[in-house]
Amino acid sequence: MARTVYVNGEYLPEDEAKVSVFDRGFLMADGVYEVVSVLGGKLIDFQGHMVRLRRSLSELAISEPMTDADCLAAHRELIARNAITDGLVYLQVTRGNPGDRDFAYPPEGTAPTVVMFTQSKPGLADAPAARTGWTVVSVPDLRWGRRDIKTVQLLYPSMAKMEAKARGADDAWMVEEGRVTEGTSNNAYIVKGNTIITRELSHDILHGITRAAVLRFAAEAQMQVEERAFTIDEAQQADEAFVTSASSFVMPVVRIDDAAVGTGAVGPVATRLREIYLEESLKLGV
Ligand code: PMP
Repeated sequence: MARTVYVNGEYLPEDEAKVSVFDRGFLMADGVYEVVSVLGGKLIDFQGHMVRLRRSLSELAISEPMTDADCLAAHRELIARNAITDGLVYLQVTRGNPGDRDFAYPPEGTAPTVVMFTQSKPGLADAPAARTGWTVVSVPDLRWGRRDIKTVQLLYPSMAKMEAKARGADDAWMVEEGRVTEGTSNNAYIVKGNTIITRELSHDILHGITRAAVLRFAAEAQMQVEERAFTIDEAQQADEAFVTSASSFVMPVVRIDDAAVGTGAVGPVATRLREIYLEESLKLGV
């Protein structure tokens, strides 16, 4: 069955949906996006994603295309029309179609382009990988300096993902000035004793919505949280490691480059945090 997708206010079969060849998103990667997970038909942390979307748009001076309420209604409509129980809703907003190619931004009043589509992923929360953990390899972080803005410039993370695959790993951890920034599409953590360590927020990393929730739940569960950068060496010697994102939730990492982390098996802290995250965020789902 062809998916129904959303383009600029219209719901269309995916093979009839169109965006201009002059769209700034296509020509210049001039756009931002969000991915919200769906579990049991509920949107997880929708409001957090909307707050970050607005911040990304404002940092790039792209006008806000719709209200949160309209955006929520469109998410729900797509979930219903595509009969999604578990999966994702992808939302992209670009600076729109100026009708030609030019480095200068188009005149004010040029409407942003809004595209949304669903991805069905039955059993998303029961990913078998959560029981065995991911392996990661380290790569240099060659991205631009505003990784806190969730832009669609995903070429380098894609290249890093391909390098990870070529090296037999599940993902890559990017390293800058000797310290881990984040995974290709997730935030990175290590665990030492009762302390969870993850890089502090700055322009260097995406401010993960899952990260914010997990750190809040960790503090509520009396775990210590230290927000600071760490090296690959320190991570290899940690008791546990894991990553977080809207689509992988909390995913244990059991190997970094050529070293097993801790026992080399999925550890209790990552397991517990995954359980808490899924349980608590489902309760708050809309
Ligand atoms: N860092 C990067 C580079 C990402 O692409 C993502 C996921 N989009 C994340 C972190 C995790 O963010 P979130 O928890 O909001 O999905």
